[in-house]
Amino acid sequence: MEYQQCNRCVMDTTAQDIVFDEDGNCNFCSDFITSIKKGHTNLSHKLDSFIEQIKKDGQSKKYDCIVGVSGGADSSYSLYLAKKYGLRVLAVHMDNGWNSELATNNIETLISNMGVDLYTHVIDWNEYKQLMQAFFDADVIDIELLYDNAMLAVNYQLAAKYGIKYILSGSNSATEGIKIPSNWNWYKKDKKNIQNLAKRNNVTIKTFPIIGTIDYLYYRGIKKIKWIPFLDYVDYNKNEAMNFLKNNYGFKPYPYKHYESVFTRFYQGYILPEKFNIDKRKVHLSTLIVSGQLTKEDAIKILEQNPYPSQYDLDNDIEYFLKKMSWSSKNLEEYIHRDEKLHKEYGTEVNIFEFFKSIYNKII
Ligand SMILES: [Zn+2]
Repeated sequence: MEYQQCNRCVMDTTAQDIVFDEDGNCNFCSDFITSIKKGHTNLSHKLDSFIEQIKKDGQSKKYDCIVGVSGGADSSYSLYLAKKYGLRVLAVHMDNGWNSELATNNIETLISNMGVDLYTHVIDWNEYKQLMQAFFDADVIDIELLYDNAMLAVNYQLAAKYGIKYILSGSNSATEGIKIPSNWNWYKKDKKNIQNLAKRNNVTIKTFPIIGTIDYLYYRGIKKIKWIPFLDYVDYNKNEAMNFLKNNYGFKPYPYKHYESVFTRFYQGYILPEKFNIDKRKVHLSTLIVSGQLTKEDAIKILEQNPYPSQYDLDNDIEYFLKKMSWSSKNLEEYIHRDEKLHKEYGTEVNIFEFFKSIYNKII
């Protein structure tokens, strides 16, 4: 099957909500260009006043902010910046059992070199494994929903506990500017969906941290905790940041994005393309095209290559995955070939979110 591709970027009709204008340019890159023009992606002129505000709000509290750390370059650099500007930081890390050794080492090195407090939340692997199995058995797309939801939950819970108003994340609109198409992942605060999928597989959620829409509204509206894409406040260049961390803090760079989690790598590099016909690199590469860091021709060449650097790496990850999930190769083959089912078929609270969003938009 041929997919229609955007004239300007490499997004195509594997994104269900793609729309082309008369010049053949798509809504994904056009929306990103609009947000750059409006100045939403570069807030560097507001950095000083923002830091001041964080410090003011943190007075009489033990910490000014939380910085979530994954061991990757973006979050490590956010941690460095927060420290550089004199913020009292609580670094928070989630261990879901899939972290690469490199990620763990990077976090340990950075934390000890920067002298910040670290809270590591270790998710019970047995429970997590059963939940992942439930997601695989349901054939839904967003397996990462589990980790992302738990990560949100842990960060907001800790912020509430310590009276912290700011959670600084290592995200950055300049490198993550183009939106993920709606059929490529799922609503991340969908507690009901997670609970229903767990129930379907007779999994009891005992210790898994979980956050729903109402919980989120409580943290956001009542507790006034803000989730901030911190790198928008600086002129962020990933390669320079990585070299800086390497030379000054003993950081070890990764060969490619999301090396910090073996599962994320396997999910994006194998499960998504093979089972769901989705290549997330298209979003990342299109963002680079729009921000002038890559030509479309080079992006197409990259997409022609396998997401894995070599068959050897892929074979290694398959072996690791099978062992960790207690699957046979036949289990994996059957899973890959089963048809996708939509998250909403299992019950969702996305409608609650849409409802509150519409009220909020009306008020503003
Ligand atoms: Zn486009």
